[in-house]
Amino acid sequence: MTEKEKIAEAIRKLYSRGLITLSEGNVSVRKGDGFLITPGGLRKDRVEPSHIALVSLEGEIICGRPSSEYLLHLEIYRKRPDVNAVVHAHPPFALSLASAEVPLKYPVLAEAVFLLGPVPIVDFSLPSSRELAERAGEASLRHDALLLENHGAVTLAQSLDLALAMMETLERTAEVLWRGLLLGKVKLLDREQVEELLSLRQRYGLSSRDWSPEDFLWSL
Ligand SMILES: [Zn+2]
Repeated sequence: MTEKEKIAEAIRKLYSRGLITLSEGNVSVRKGDGFLITPGGLRKDRVEPSHIALVSLEGEIICGRPSSEYLLHLEIYRKRPDVNAVVHAHPPFALSLASAEVPLKYPVLAEAVFLLGPVPIVDFSLPSSRELAERAGEASLRHDALLLENHGAVTLAQSLDLALAMMETLERTAEVLWRGLLLGKVKLLDREQVEELLSLRQRYGLSSRDWSPEDFLWSL
């Protein structure tokens, strides 16, 4: 499968799993001195490999018509040389939390602590704006997954498969937390368990962030 085929398949997958609507979301993969990215102005269930655009790290559109959110991807690739793929979606439970100012920093699920680390909320800026790109880029220096206030979520990783898996985990965790808040009871992992999960990341080839239990929230 070519990179363009993988990107087209990824955006269709996000749509079929309900993580975006027909007009939302974008996916990119680093390519040389730039990145390949899904197109703007097309239904997301109809994206084909030939629609994938190429943008340089100087922000120059080399071919195709990139998503209007390409500045956000550009800023992350510039700030994080270790990142090779960026996924931006609007998953409904994560979006609910991001709109209620509840960050995904509560250690509820082991998988989420291990794959995502603490997930902060980036203050609202208009979608596709330079300000949003700069805020998300800044937050990406400390985090691999972000909630965008009143907007959506971003995951960044060494591979597209991992960035997609992270987006699914993020939404699953948001749903579990959301339901727990409705139940009025959420049992959190303890600090020792979080420390152990974070230490496992390096063993599995995940980026070695300097997170500690202090980066999580411990009371709901
Ligand atoms: Zn968006």
